[in-house]
Amino acid sequence: MKQLKFKNGDLMPAIGLGTWKSKPGEVGEAVKTAIANGYRHIDCAAIYGNEAEIGQALADLFKAGVVKREELWITSKLWNDSHQSDYVLPALKKTLSDLQLDYLDLYLIHWPVAFKHGVQPSSAADFLSLEEVPIIETWTKLEEALELGLTKHIGVSNFSVLKLSDLLQKAKVKPEVNQVELHPFLQQNDLLQFARENDILLTGYSPLGSGDRAAATKKADEPSLLTHEVIAQIAEAKKCTTAQVLIAWQVQRGTAVIPKSTNAERIVQNLESVQCILTDEEVAKINALDRHYRYVDAKFFAVPGNTYGNVYDE
Ligand code: NAP
Repeated sequence: MKQLKFKNGDLMPAIGLGTWKSKPGEVGEAVKTAIANGYRHIDCAAIYGNEAEIGQALADLFKAGVVKREELWITSKLWNDSHQSDYVLPALKKTLSDLQLDYLDLYLIHWPVAFKHGVQPSSAADFLSLEEVPIIETWTKLEEALELGLTKHIGVSNFSVLKLSDLLQKAKVKPEVNQVELHPFLQQNDLLQFARENDILLTGYSPLGSGDRAAATKKADEPSLLTHEVIAQIAEAKKCTTAQVLIAWQVQRGTAVIPKSTNAERIVQNLESVQCILTDEEVAKINALDRHYRYVDAKFFAVPGNTYGNVYDE
């Protein structure tokens, strides 16, 4: 398994299991299947509402001797309602308690968006602007979490070059990861270039097009990655699946990638993407598919009267 290297030599497996939308009653089994079949990287978040079940699955695996804690890479994320300094460490401790872990490998600020504490926003009044709760206020607490040993690495998610540059200027400890949407239709070459220049690793989310999102968040004319003819032709030539081509493209690009599945066969198939080695010509054909198309467009944060109409600064 290819791994991405941090400045201190720690290694993050390039392919991890995504857990957003993985339902209660299914996610624990998915994690067990993944780890039993060789996954060593699990992507979690408090807002996914399934960390307690994942924690029980991990505890069962440790008890059965299938894997040791130190062999795993566990990421989680701070939800938007806990950006204010008093709420950051309690939110992280709740995640650790749910996951039944003493430490995370990576803790991320999930979005550069802040809500009032405990609120699921329905109007502009439920949000806090980044002037009211600057990212550096939240980041300083992540730095403290690092010092306390609650996490081994800290980073961000859904940050633009603009927001990363600002944070890099103010942070004592630089962010080591930015987790963002990445796939052939949204290659984000400028962000990748900036990340490389600043020792930041990228993790690609929604690598297969996030087909199981709620219908209300989907556009009617969404393009399909899994059935795109160029991806399908390459898959046929390589005797692998389109999902494997999409995952292999990210691994060869040097980013991490976290496909979500709760289906045992697909979980195994996705990790086996490492056997699908793309030629330079195939990579070039996939690179030509870029169209800056976002599945997760963050429009759900844009409420009349709030400051989150342009989360991605574009
Ligand atoms: P995704 O991984 O692109 O797609 C998941 C969908 O693809 C599910 O419907 C899944 O169905 C299906 N699928 C999985 N493997 C497949 C295969 N081999 N062939 C065909 N279909 C397959 O979408 P995602 O969940 O949006 O993104 C992945 C992970 O990234 C998330 O779970 C989460 O951990 C993370 N993420 C983070 C953020 C953020 O803001 N930081 C945002 C979005 C996502 P089955 O489960 O039935 O297989």
